[in-house]
Amino acid sequence: MTSVISLDEAREYVLAGCTVGHPRAVPLAEALGLVTSVPVEAVEDVPPFDNTAMDGFAVRAADTAGATDDAPVRLAVAGTLAAGAAPDLVVGPGEAVRIMTGAPMPPGADAVVMVERTATTDDGATVAVGLEVEPGNHVRRAGDDVRAGDLVFPAGTTLTPAHLGVLATLGVRRAPVYPRPRVGVISTGDELVDGPEPLGPGQIRDSNRRMLLALVERTDAIAVDLGRIADDEAAIAAAFAAGAESCDAIVSSGGVSMGDFDFVKVVLDRLGDMRWMRVAIKPAKPLAFGTIGTTPVFGLPGNPVSSLVSFELFARPGLRKMMGHATLDRLRLAAVADDALARRPDGKVHFARVLVTYGEDGRFHVRTAGGQGSHQLAAAAAAGALAVLPDGDGVEAGGEVQIIPLGDLGTLG
Ligand code: AMP
Ligand code: MG
Repeated sequence: MTSVISLDEAREYVLAGCTVGHPRAVPLAEALGLVTSVPVEAVEDVPPFDNTAMDGFAVRAADTAGATDDAPVRLAVAGTLAAGAAPDLVVGPGEAVRIMTGAPMPPGADAVVMVERTATTDDGATVAVGLEVEPGNHVRRAGDDVRAGDLVFPAGTTLTPAHLGVLATLGVRRAPVYPRPRVGVISTGDELVDGPEPLGPGQIRDSNRRMLLALVERTDAIAVDLGRIADDEAAIAAAFAAGAESCDAIVSSGGVSMGDFDFVKVVLDRLGDMRWMRVAIKPAKPLAFGTIGTTPVFGLPGNPVSSLVSFELFARPGLRKMMGHATLDRLRLAAVADDALARRPDGKVHFARVLVTYGEDGRFHVRTAGGQGSHQLAAAAAAGALAVLPDGDGVEAGGEVQIIPLGDLGTLG
């Protein structure tokens, strides 16, 4: 009989078995969400040349001295520069060049007057400037976003869409990152079937495999469907052995609880080095973790909500560690429990599935998402967060509770 261990102990054990992958350069198109393995330095200035931030006229600032709307200065228009044009016009004293946002500053000019403060004659030959400007007005200097030689972002940066934009603007085609692990997902259980066909006696449809594949994808790893395996020793052995060979990690569901009849335990103990745990949490008490060869295996419980919570608490941080993330766990936030979140003392931390809204008081508010059974996946699907209820009697209505948002904060209430 294994003893019950704390969430922290189980988590530490799992994390110790997960090691970061070998860095490699991947095309920017595949790098979103990955973590840089080395610092990125700029090889050139961004912007690459001085250019205008406004549509208007490039001028010599000194020529605008004393100009007002009532007493504008008149400048000769020497030509037009659009974005993408070479700055082959020179602005001499008493001259201006019509210029569009992003166009290079023409030699001679040191400021831009926005078009709204100018009036051009009908023939376009001269422009009246109704504003005195300082040198540098509306000019974006070469290198004022990024300077050649600058550290653009350090090793350990999680690449967001904006980071990919910065790399693209620097002409970088491949990002040095920790690669996406290939994560094989297996569901086990004789009762499981797939698809719309009528269910036979005792059968249920496999919900976990689809859910776990999606959870793996949400973790920015590559989800590999290793199938639904019947409770057959040879079939289970073949599936796990093949998974360990072809994947960087395996996530399985089912067959890890104490009273299980199936062969998952027998097979994993034969193939790998597994620890069978009982964690002081609800749901998701049973957990197996270990390695087959060097491939980590996350053996999650079969009850669908347990599988979900277990993935969140163990597999997601483990996979994030493999992907080079420094922050492994989701943010925990304070929220107000609008309704009581009651529970009984039982030595476990409970993770209640809750609906989340953002209140006019500037705080997050939560209510129970419905049925809290570990088989009630529909209620869990509606939940925006897990509420963390330490051992005790729970939280009274109006009390504060810690929550773990399961998705983007921007999608909450
Ligand atoms: P187990 O962890 O294998 O003892 O399964 C616990 C409960 O979860 C049982 O009621 C199973 O029928 C159910 N279960 C196991 N695997 C799945 C699955 N992939 N999809 C839906 N329910 C499952
Ligand atoms: Mg089972």
